[in-house]
Amino acid sequence: MTVVDRGTAHWQKLDADHHWHPFTNTKALNQKGARVIVRGEGVYLWDSEGNRILDGMAGLWCVNLGYGRTELAEAAAAQFATLPFYNTFFQTTHTPAVELAHLIASVTPGDLNHVFFASSGSEAVDTALRMARAYWVVAGKPSKTWVIGRKNAYHGSTLAGASLSGMSGMWKYGAPLVPDIAHIAQPYWYGEADAAETDPEAFGLARARLLEAKILELGAENVAAFIGEPIQGAGGVIVPPASYWPEIERICRKYDVLLIADEVICGFGRTGSWFGSQTFGITPDIMTMAKGLSSGYLPISAVAVGNRVADELINGGGEFTHGFTYSGHPVSAAVAKRTIEILRDEKIIERVHDDIGPYFQERLRTLEDHPLVGKVDGVGLIAGIALVASKSPKRFFEKGDEVGLICRDHCFAEGLVMRAVGSRMVCAPPLIISRDEVDELVRLARRCFDLTLRDVGPL
Ligand code: PMP
Repeated sequence: MTVVDRGTAHWQKLDADHHWHPFTNTKALNQKGARVIVRGEGVYLWDSEGNRILDGMAGLWCVNLGYGRTELAEAAAAQFATLPFYNTFFQTTHTPAVELAHLIASVTPGDLNHVFFASSGSEAVDTALRMARAYWVVAGKPSKTWVIGRKNAYHGSTLAGASLSGMSGMWKYGAPLVPDIAHIAQPYWYGEADAAETDPEAFGLARARLLEAKILELGAENVAAFIGEPIQGAGGVIVPPASYWPEIERICRKYDVLLIADEVICGFGRTGSWFGSQTFGITPDIMTMAKGLSSGYLPISAVAVGNRVADELINGGGEFTHGFTYSGHPVSAAVAKRTIEILRDEKIIERVHDDIGPYFQERLRTLEDHPLVGKVDGVGLIAGIALVASKSPKRFFEKGDEVGLICRDHCFAEGLVMRAVGSRMVCAPPLIISRDEVDELVRLARRCFDLTLRDVGPL
């Protein structure tokens, strides 16, 4: 293959000379050289040196069907040949967008039957924010502008996405970003409960009730919506106690606040249901989705809304002054449609729910006997592993970020992709992973924890 023949150094040099990487200290990376990924098959990647790597992150939480699904390539090729692009702005539509909207409506919970398309998760989040504010304008309550999110949430890198995100790093290039956005604390029991809060469910309720307090502080007449990821992904896979989401939903209903579920990571089977909202028993008014929608094969995202929002904005709002050139891009839509059909016809999500998800969670929890591992959290095929300096009494590393990066680098060197979020190691493999591959992943993770322990010294 040409890529391999020209050699790693060649590609690293060109990369260093011209390619500015996202979320990266590119200068530091250029000094050591980026790893060049050349091929993928199933759950595995290969680099330009011929090393095989088990992709425990499904790309970036997205390659749910694994690499090398020829049906998706064929769907793209057929659509490229028929109609590679047309817009949906000016009184026209095309069959891939129609079919995809219909399919999405068939798998979303409740009455989320109306679908708006974009290309990235960030664009979907921006769209949801504008929809929520537009909703209240059309509904005759224009003072309802505030949107409440959570600290340590991630909703994207556009200005609205960064503003709604609750990581201080996302705000470091100057505030205010988008006005009228507030954040409440996250439902991270293992990391944030104080010594008296021994019951995770009581903690979940207490954290949900922070929403009520924030709404009362701002005035319900000023609050448009609450936004949250069913499980915070980029924040370190924070799985809320079961009590949390139903209480959030109850509070939203009580104060007439729209509920937005950001399903960019949780959607399309990650948690063992089509959507994380179903896993946690809630029905949002607005749902954003991306990533797994096309299994990451092409950029596409969507926002689904229920009848309440549709009745105001579609049937009562006139023109919705919002959209993207690539809203409903036909080739992306064709690939997304095929992705959903494969998930449905091969019963992949049922398998995550009944078989491989529980197996993965059970096997990962065997790592809790490792001296570095404080707790494994997860559901379906998403998990976060807290690395700690001491388990009892519980003590986190002072420089948790550094420990996480040491562990991540060991993983990468040993042939496993796991991502470090502070001192939490996160994992979300393709949904088609086999039991043997789960065993391999857990074996490699244990080895990398051993190597990390060796580096950080006796605990
Ligand atoms: N929302 C959530 C929950 C996400 O995890 C992400 C990306 N990781 C985004 C939004 C932004 O998506 P994108 O990177 O496609 O813009």
